[in-house]
This record gives sequence, C-alpha cells and structure tokens, in this order.
Amino acid sequence: MNLLILNGLVVDPANRICKKADILVENGKIVKIGKIQNAKCQMPNAKVIDAKNKIVTPGLIDIHTHLREPGHSDEETIASGTRAAASGGFTTIFAMPNTHPPIDSVTGVKFVLMTAMHEGIVNVLPVGAITKGQKGEELAEIGKMKNAGIVAISDDGKPVMNANIMRKALEYSKMFDLPVISHCEDTNLTKDGEMNEGYISTVLGLKGIPRQAEEIIVARDIALCELTDGRLHIAHISTAKSVELVRDAKKRGVKITAEVTPHHLSLTDKEIKNRNYDTNLKVNPPLRTEDDVKALLHGLADDTIDCIASDHAPHLAEEKQQEFKIAPSGIIGLETTLPLVITKLVHKKVLTLSQAIEKLTFNPAKIFNLNCGSLSIGSAADITIIDLNKTKTIDKFESKSKNSPFIGMKLIGFAITTIVGGKIVKENGKIISD
Ligand SMILES: [Zn+2]
Ligand SMILES: [Zn+2]
Repeated sequence: MNLLILNGLVVDPANRICKKADILVENGKIVKIGKIQNAKCQMPNAKVIDAKNKIVTPGLIDIHTHLREPGHSDEETIASGTRAAASGGFTTIFAMPNTHPPIDSVTGVKFVLMTAMHEGIVNVLPVGAITKGQKGEELAEIGKMKNAGIVAISDDGKPVMNANIMRKALEYSKMFDLPVISHCEDTNLTKDGEMNEGYISTVLGLKGIPRQAEEIIVARDIALCELTDGRLHIAHISTAKSVELVRDAKKRGVKITAEVTPHHLSLTDKEIKNRNYDTNLKVNPPLRTEDDVKALLHGLADDTIDCIASDHAPHLAEEKQQEFKIAPSGIIGLETTLPLVITKLVHKKVLTLSQAIEKLTFNPAKIFNLNCGSLSIGSAADITIIDLNKTKTIDKFESKSKNSPFIGMKLIGFAITTIVGGKIVKENGKIISD
C-alpha cells in the first residue's frame, strides 16, 4: 500500500529537517518529502493520513528492551513486546540477551530473528551476550553472532565483573565494529541492596546500594576502552559522577556513548518513601536523588548522554507484589517512554523537540550502525506520528506485564500512528497487527 502523510510538522534530525511537509511512501520506502501538489489526484490509490497539527518523525528506536522470550513468556513475548513497542511509537527495538537460556550463540540469535519475523510487528535487533551463559567467564561466539545479525554485545542484567574478560570483549568486538553495552554495577558492593544508599534508605530501613557501585565500573570500563580503543556504550547511567566521567572521557576522545532511562530522569528515591515501598519503584540501577536527576538532564542537554532508552523489564504482578527486598528489579517502559520524554523534557524545555527525537532515532542509529533512524529518501518507511498535545492517564498496556510506576500519572504527548516499512501497525491509538 502506498501512503500519503499530509501536512505534518516533519522532524528528522538526521537530515536537519524541521518543517511542515508531506511525505510520500511507495512500496514501503520514502520517496518524497516536501509539498506534494494535488497529492490525492496523483496517487488515487494511496492511503491518506492527515497529520495536521501532528509531528512526523523517523520511527523511534529503543536500544534497551527485555522481551523475556525464550524462557519467561508469561512476562512478555516477542509478539507482545513488539505490540507494546508499536503502541509506544517504536519501530525498531533491541532484544537484550538475558533470556533463559541467554542469547549467546548463533542458534539463539536465529531464534529471536525468526520469531520476530513471524510474530513481531516492529523490527527486532538482537543483542548477543558478551560471555557464554552470561557467566562472565568465557567470551561468547561474538563473530559468528555478528554474522547472524547481532548489533551489539552485552551481559546486561549483570556486569562483566572480570576486568580481563571485559578487556578481551572490547578488543575482540572491535574487529567486528560492535559496541559493547555495559551494565555498570560492582556486584560486591550492591549485594542484597534494595535502593539508593542515602538518607532515604536509612529512614526506610532498606539496604542501600552506593552510587560508587556504578561509578567504579564506569571508570574501569572507560579505562579499558582507552586501553583497547574499543567501543563502549554505558547502559542506564544514573549518577551525577557517572555523567561527569563520561563527559571527561568524551573530551579525551574515548569512543564512549551513554543512555539514560525515562524513569531515572523523572523519579527519585524519595518516591519509595512517598509511595510506601511500592515495588514498582525498584529498579536496577536504583532511583537516585534530585541532584543526580539534575546532572542527568544536564548531561542530556549537552550531549554527554546520547540516547534515551526504556530498559523495558517486564515482571509478573505476583513477583512484584512481594516485599521490597524480594521483589525483582525493573519496570516496563516501552509505552511510557515517549510521553515521559515529551512531558518531562520537551514541554519543560530541557530539550528541544528535535534534540529529544534525535536521542530516540538518529543517535541510536549512528552508534549501532543501524539502517534506520531517518526519513532519508529511499529508506524504509519507518515513521512515527506524534500528537504533542494528546493527554492521557496511564492505565492500559499492550505489554503482558503491568509493572509500571507511572500508572495513574497524567502525561501529555503520545504516538498516535506507527508505520513500519510502510505498513501501519498502529493507527488512531489502536494496534493493527495483520
Ligand atoms: Zn542493566
Ligand atoms: Zn536492562
């Protein structure tokens, strides 16, 4: 089907476009952007989408999604996770490899790609494990997985605690131009930790996780990145000092990039007290303090932090409804990322609309060498149409899991239409999956 998207404000940071324009899509590809005269007469069979008063952007990319398949299909599947992605305006998502078993081989990578092809409604790009079984002991078959289609390697969920293994991962992945995504956590310091260590953890009587647990590994990985000249991407950066470390490393020319989650940008450890130990506030790394949030916002604005990523981590209600100590860490994020970015960053003028879209499209594409993230002529028509003024209270999800601290929150700015390769997968707020 051919598509005509008329009268939208086109925001495409990759091509430095921010203007009112029409877009013509033929055979799944973008063929024209600009004023299309008598469009409806020229293309009588095209489906017309009126994007008046709406923003039209490249399809959003989430570089940090946990899909739980294989192993925990009760929490999420590739099918349900991609529906959640489409609903949130994402047309491409990374599948993190900490499934059961972990994605550490060609077989695992092929399983994700095949399942996504048959059951997914957005593009799924697998991330391979750094080490076999994510045990941190022996490198996984990185080169073979790269040939099978991985876009990065990560032991996310866990750090690579052995510095020598991390050194080898950075050295070896360099041969394939694969970024190493680091989950920065010194597990000797975080053991049994429940929340950020500080005044609030003391008041609540919860075991604290010191910020240094993250910062030590950020500093170590920067050192290893300099030693190897590899490519390092820091996942879910959460402390002021970590931001400073990345900023300094970038100034020295280290090949480092970083992402931040919407929850670390919008919530603090105080909420755990305010909301009476709500386990939907238990995340890893933990929610930090107001000063950290300020530093993260500053880091985003000055491009120290390159991307915003959901760290979508589905968990069953019965798992989350346990005492704080036992409940697993993580929250779902695919369907709240964009509205949080628009509400908390764009409407509050922390970032311009174009900067925000860049951190969800062009920057991830650039870092991970992806063939998407722009509205360039000839590229696949992955497009998101956003209503900046749509207001909604967060209540329902496409995701199988519902573990979100944002339920009941009124947000402004949502994706209303999502197009993947010229195919509409969400229209007027509804998922269209066949
Ligand atoms: Zn992680
Ligand atoms: Zn994660």
